Amino acid sequence: MITVAGSINMDLVVTTDRTPNKGETLLGKDFQTNPGGKGANQAVAAARLGNTTKMIGHVGKDAFGVSLIENLTQQNVGTEYVKTKDGSSGIATITVAEGDNSIIVIPGANFSWEAEEWKQYTTIIQKSDVLVLQFEIPLDVVEAFADMANKVGTTVILNPAPAQALPAGLIALADYLTPNETECKELFGMEAEEAVAQFPNKLIVTEGEKGALYHDGTSLVRIPGFPVKAVDTTGAGDTFNGALASAIAEGLALKEAVSFANAAASLSVQHYGAQKGMPLRKAVLERLG
Ligand code: ATP
Repeated sequence: MITVAGSINMDLVVTTDRTPNKGETLLGKDFQTNPGGKGANQAVAAARLGNTTKMIGHVGKDAFGVSLIENLTQQNVGTEYVKTKDGSSGIATITVAEGDNSIIVIPGANFSWEAEEWKQYTTIIQKSDVLVLQFEIPLDVVEAFADMANKVGTTVILNPAPAQALPAGLIALADYLTPNETECKELFGMEAEEAVAQFPNKLIVTEGEKGALYHDGTSLVRIPGFPVKAVDTTGAGDTFNGALASAIAEGLALKEAVSFANAAASLSVQHYGAQKGMPLRKAVLERLG
């Protein structure tokens, strides 16, 4: 079983011809609401691959909260550990204009954690094979979950995104760290090749279409990506993490697990939308050949 403790957001996507100037009102072209948040996306990716997957997180007491829980349930993600908190749900307002995105994230309920609230989840984390964490909930909560998982022998995958200072203690608690190349540089101040050598069999750096890189203690291991025509890379990293969790939970060796994650992520970039593009197990196995 996989448990994801993290963010649940509604993405509010506005498409317009150009970015408005300060103080200007524009007529836009299109508006869509898409369920997102790194935590929820990674949970959906794992559930699509057929794993029993549970989500720990918070939504707000608003219409988005209701529909975010509904969406997770529809995607076969267990929501019995998703709580509704006072205040707004987490949202991301995304303006797409001139081929670029500008994004404002309001964490809302994702940041609404009481002291030691995480302790309520000891049993589910104990029962899980893998716990997946990211940085869209408070850092002290991430640390508490990682510590708890570590104590009960549950494997921890920490996707350190969005990048923020990574305490040494948290690095030690994580079994796997999965930044992309940019995040890797921000976190460790080094290029991927150099950084992975410092954390063998732990630091896995995703490199877009090139695939992913880690160090096995003896040498660099580059697991090539699958060449595809990408139409939308939104959610590629989340698919990679959900699929990696799935493969690790099933006991695959790291090399095979990373290849499985590359295959799943390569399928996701061939479709529009983050969660919409996440593949089923059959498609991933077909891609792996
Ligand atoms: P995003 O923020 O777009 O969700 P990311 O920046 O977190 O993604 P990337 O390193 O860009 O992460 O991509 C994650 C994984 O997705 C890669 O390791 C690779 O397996 C797959 N991937 C990404 N882009 C492509 C592509 N163009 N073709 C094939 N696979 C891709």
